[in-house]
Amino acid sequence: MRRSPTRTPTASARNWGRQPLRPTPIIRPNHEPERRCIGCGARSARARLIRFANVKGLVVPDPRATLPGRGAWLHAARDCWEAATARRAFNRAFKAPVSIPQDTVDFTHTWPRSASTS
Ligand SMILES: [Zn+2]
Repeated sequence: MRRSPTRTPTASARNWGRQPLRPTPIIRPNHEPERRCIGCGARSARARLIRFANVKGLVVPDPRATLPGRGAWLHAARDCWEAATARRAFNRAFKAPVSIPQDTVDFTHTWPRSASTS
């Protein structure tokens, strides 16, 4: 009887070190999509955060999350907005230099001062 072919040891060795160094995502039952607020850094349900998109180098609100590309998520709160702009968190979130048009600033002025997380 023939022995089954031995597994090639190089197959796994070849991929060694190429695995991305990120922790295994925790899959929970009844998983609700979460995003990290770039202002306060807390994770929240997607529904509690406003998405911003980078449109030709400008930060624009995308409340319906329909714009393509990388998004930045923020609690609809002035505190989180101010923290994000003070730390230039949008540049980091988009991995590109972006500027914030007055329209976007006006948009955030309708927000309450701090996020109601209750
Ligand atoms: Zn926040």
